[in-house]
Amino acid sequence: MPRSIVGWGPQRPIFLEESTVPAYTRRVGPRGAVFIDRDGTLTEEVGYVNHPSRLRLLPRSAEAIRRLNRAGVAAVLATNQAGVARGYFSEEVLAAVNAALVQRLKDEGAYLDGLYVCPHHPTEGAAPFRLDCDCRKPRPGLLRRAASELGLDLLRSTLVGDKPSDLVAARAVGARGVLVLTGYGLGEWEYRRAAFPVAPDHVAGDLLDAVEWVLASGPR
Ligand SMILES: [Mg+2]
Ligand SMILES: [Zn+2]
Repeated sequence: MPRSIVGWGPQRPIFLEESTVPAYTRRVGPRGAVFIDRDGTLTEEVGYVNHPSRLRLLPRSAEAIRRLNRAGVAAVLATNQAGVARGYFSEEVLAAVNAALVQRLKDEGAYLDGLYVCPHHPTEGAAPFRLDCDCRKPRPGLLRRAASELGLDLLRSTLVGDKPSDLVAARAVGARGVLVLTGYGLGEWEYRRAAFPVAPDHVAGDLLDAVEWVLASGPR
């Protein structure tokens, strides 16, 4: 199962499975979401982020999230973190990195509605994270779980990411897929697009451009 981490403020993130408090209080019925890949989309692609100090928000990311917050569109992180399965960093480090991310966004007045993480890898590492799970993108488990827990309408949602696997995950749940040219996006788009299994619905310079496209095109 994917593990959802919700972090509000400086306190340790809450793992939903261990928590009895509602993780989410702004729910107002099924609504569209923008799912956001982490590395290369919201933050700089720097390889494995095994310490909060390695996390760098991309320059216009906070503004992008603020726009979604203002528009009442859920902003939901959906990220593969196979570094856990590979043993490169622990779940605790992953939680600390995501807590730092939440805090840096909060410092800029931007709020994520949820953070969904796949820590698995099908063939690397050891149990319980060595797992042929349903949540590692391009599979749709993270998006489905977020939709169920947060009351989101996937058909009115968009996933923004820097890899073809993000576009495949979006298509699998009937959401739109936007490729950003940050992270791996530019190289993927320039040199590998002929091999994309799913074409993007839109190509955007960065996350803010992607969000502007989503808001301008309206809920479907
Ligand atoms: Mg990425
Ligand atoms: Zn998984």
